[in-house]
Amino acid sequence: QRAEWNKLRDQKSVSKDGVHVELAANIGTPNDVAGVIDNGGEAVGLYRTEFLYMGRDKLPSEDVQFNAYKTVLEKMEGKPVVVRTLDIGGDKELPYLDLPKEMNPFLGFRAVRLCLDRTDIFRTQLRALLRASVYGNLRIMFPMIATLGEFREAKALLLEEKQNLIAAGIEVSENIQLGIMVEIPSTAVMADQFAKEVDFFSIGTNDLIQYTMAADRMNERVSYLYQPYNPAILRLVKMVIDAAHKEGRWAGMCGEMAGDTTAIPLLLGLGLDEFSMSATSILPARSLISKLSKAEMQELAAKALELQTAEQVVELVRGIDA
Ligand code: PEP
Ligand code: MG
Repeated sequence: QRAEWNKLRDQKSVSKDGVHVELAANIGTPNDVAGVIDNGGEAVGLYRTEFLYMGRDKLPSEDVQFNAYKTVLEKMEGKPVVVRTLDIGGDKELPYLDLPKEMNPFLGFRAVRLCLDRTDIFRTQLRALLRASVYGNLRIMFPMIATLGEFREAKALLLEEKQNLIAAGIEVSENIQLGIMVEIPSTAVMADQFAKEVDFFSIGTNDLIQYTMAADRMNERVSYLYQPYNPAILRLVKMVIDAAHKEGRWAGMCGEMAGDTTAIPLLLGLGLDEFSMSATSILPARSLISKLSKAEMQELAAKALELQTAEQVVELVRGIDA
């Protein structure tokens, strides 16, 4: 099997019936890029920038961030790099921000909510990203977007910082795609409206599942409810992908589900364009996809959407031969 995967390293990810999908990697630091390239990643689909802010006693400066973003963009040599703006809060804390304890951190002051309040922190990150944008193919993504208003506010700050840099004579790329994570059910439901304003979606199933099922992703006692294959999740994923395609946008997924070999046949059938996963999952996923017909998986997905339980969906997928 190893030998087959090695052969797949330099190939594109194509289904048995010739449809290309993009297999990308999730990274946390510039050092992770080597693994992406080793494993034949076609892009970085999620750069979690939290690690720049963690494990230190104060906020990272604009230059520290600029260097990290530039390094990743350069190492990826023009391949797409989706950088997610700061997603702190929930399970990830920053002691030096001294935020009050919350009763429900996963439902609280986190990610873009914090960034739209602490615009000083957000603007610094946006400037670092804009300055780095000329070194590769940068895509910017906002996490935990719940409303169109939040997206518009975040986008306005980005455009303001862009104008400021240009006015100061600093070069900024004109081809930065701007997208959002779809990880809150309200945003999945409203995806048709979001699709008119964003360049892409990346479905964050790690959070989307916990918010849809109302089951804390860290709590073992309710983990039986954390069901990626529940038809409710598949229906939301379909809504997001269909909404994107209707407006000519692309839809990816960067939650764990994107690299899950049971989910991949369904996601291919639902029309997902980009799958972002841990680097080590890329070659197995590419191998699997090469054995699947997208047309057949569309039929499989249509059946799955009409099933009643997650168990039935798993049974359905196990029935295919790949
Ligand atoms: C997600 O929520 O699916 C995701 C990719 O983000 P994180 O796991 O960092 O919350
Ligand atoms: Mg998330």
